[in-house]
Amino acid sequence: MEEGAPESQIEKVMAHLLEKGIKVHRSDGTTRTVLGVIGDASSLDKGLIETFDGVFEVVKVSEPFKLTNRKYKPEGTVVQIDDVRIGGDEVVVMAGPCSAENEQQVYSSAAAVKRAGAKILRGGAFKPRSSPYSFQGLGEAGLRLLRTAANEHNLKLVSEVMDISQIELVEKYVDILQVGARNMQNYTLLRELGRARKPVLLKRGISATIEEWLLSAEYVLAGGNRNVILCERGIRTFESYLRNTLDISAIPVVKKLSHLPIIADPSHGTGRRDKVAPMARAAVAAGADGLLIEVHCDPDKALSDGAQSLFPSQFDQLMAELRTIAPAIGRSICVEPVARRGWAR
Ligand code: PEP
Ligand code: MN
Repeated sequence: MEEGAPESQIEKVMAHLLEKGIKVHRSDGTTRTVLGVIGDASSLDKGLIETFDGVFEVVKVSEPFKLTNRKYKPEGTVVQIDDVRIGGDEVVVMAGPCSAENEQQVYSSAAAVKRAGAKILRGGAFKPRSSPYSFQGLGEAGLRLLRTAANEHNLKLVSEVMDISQIELVEKYVDILQVGARNMQNYTLLRELGRARKPVLLKRGISATIEEWLLSAEYVLAGGNRNVILCERGIRTFESYLRNTLDISAIPVVKKLSHLPIIADPSHGTGRRDKVAPMARAAVAAGADGLLIEVHCDPDKALSDGAQSLFPSQFDQLMAELRTIAPAIGRSICVEPVARRGWAR
């Protein structure tokens, strides 16, 4: 619709589409409203619709992903959790251990990431491990520890949900529901998350193309949940030197194709602690809306992903570097030095 088209004109177009038996997905942007039509549009006359008052243009979206397409929502989506905005000017950092292991580990890792300027605590309670003999996570007890630590430090919380049977439980504790790389094409899970009330962080599958990834996001959006954050976490290529190949170029590609916020995970993207900071810096420089970084209070003793987990001092250093990089590309990042506060337990 044209900028400032009155409600009466919008409703008239919607009524016309509905009369043709077509479901309309309405998106109200700050300047204009977009009416999205998905499915068989053969009964529609593009020329006729263009004559309706208030119609700006009729665009055919040829890509298979529709609701995730930037053509449907030209301005970027901002996923907002209270005062934390992902997809806005600020680069939002989510950090914490790979897995919640015990009270001391969760609490001191949370204190460390908060001190350095992270806004969101990460940590897995249900872990998708390649081997059934590896640590599988603490389950609900882990979620309880993570939530308590997040509240203590005024952090939001992101944690993985592996299966539809866990959604209700995980949703009670977290602010963002993480879908792991291995589940990117678990369409039953994605459909169910379309009905969830919390935002979804959708990691890219290890061999997924960008189009497949956006189609997975489409499942969540089509189910009614518009709050999806994409996360590039490295893909499997012929290069075997590192754990994965972090596809930095996916960031500007996704930015162009989709309105959804995109963050990068240089921890799983590289698998090596010494490679995390350079890739985090590159991701921010490439336009990522945020980062997901593994930080552990004592990485050498971690029950999972110790080799890629940063020591708190390394994370402090990285955050300081990002405070130089973000403004250079017109972004901000948490600048107030957070008061140093020891964890009392
Ligand atoms: C994680 O974030 O701990 C995780 C398991 O990530 P991925 O799904 O990207 O492997
Ligand atoms: Mn991990």
